[in-house]
Amino acid sequence: MTSRTTVAVLGTGIMGAPIARNLTRAGFPVRAWNRSADKARPLAEDGVHLAPSPEDAGHGADVVLTMLADAAAVLETAPAALADGQTWVQMSTIGLEGTERAAAVAEDHRVAFVDAPVLGSRQAAEDGKLTVLASGPSDGRDALAPLFDAVAARTTWVGEAGAGTRLKLVANAWVTAMVEGLAETIVLAEGLGVDPHSFLDAIAGGQMDSGYAQAKGRAMIDRSFEPPAFPLHLAAKDLGLIVDAAGRHDVDVPVVEAIARRFREATERGLGDLDMAATFLAGARDQRSS
Ligand code: NAP
Repeated sequence: MTSRTTVAVLGTGIMGAPIARNLTRAGFPVRAWNRSADKARPLAEDGVHLAPSPEDAGHGADVVLTMLADAAAVLETAPAALADGQTWVQMSTIGLEGTERAAAVAEDHRVAFVDAPVLGSRQAAEDGKLTVLASGPSDGRDALAPLFDAVAARTTWVGEAGAGTRLKLVANAWVTAMVEGLAETIVLAEGLGVDPHSFLDAIAGGQMDSGYAQAKGRAMIDRSFEPPAFPLHLAAKDLGLIVDAAGRHDVDVPVVEAIARRFREATERGLGDLDMAATFLAGARDQRSS
């Protein structure tokens, strides 16, 4: 696989658009499709070929890369783009069952299946600094290196297809727990009459600190959740996938279940399109009745 490898990108949302752009900048011919065509249109200025359908995007492509919202979107969309001999790089977060179903679709279409979810959000995607949690057949790994290098600062191969998704679910359990913990911490500070900035200042630079705490903490204090880096409804989807995975493996995760409920309710309250830090609004005193 070289920079002449043609890549079909299905899904040009927060993550897929910068991925398509960075692949083009690295010299890959890119054919992109998005359900809402208007969202993909700006990519034409970067030299991305806009395809009118998944089938058209996949036509002549060596690699089909999916970056869609959820398993249903992936399973509805990808099959039309796949053709014998291609490699399918599945980057969306679709959980254990979704990944198994995608692997079966790949087998039916005789394409190599690489399960490659990512860590990092809007900014990392725009900067080409994602972390790819890649898993799949060992013989295609070197060939995919230039593609992953175009979108990621780091690619870690973790085993056969499915292993990347398991690691992604583990990582998102941590991220969502951090965000919910932070939300309740800031709500508590405000409720106790403690300036929440003083909490962020107190942990700054120490072992309790994290870049996430500072960035998301400030967003909560400022009630600033747009544009979303990671929409709350997608985090709710991931929490559901984590709870399902834990159930399948007989793992007890009561806190994750509570956070999943909280995010689901926040989505039902209409907060789903805001950044996931908006889970804060579920507890903030000034927002409780809205
Ligand atoms: P996004 O901006 O909401 O984009 C979602 C994409 O999926 C859009 O292209 C959307 O098309 C498409 N889509 C949704 N339902 C569809 C359907 N039924 N049929 C066809 N297309 C459909 O989300 P994102 O942040 O890029 O996330 C994409 C994936 O990456 C998700 O699995 C997410 O969990 C994962 N992820 C996100 C982040 C992050 O921080 N944002 C980080 C790591 C992983 P329309 O434009 O037509 O709606």
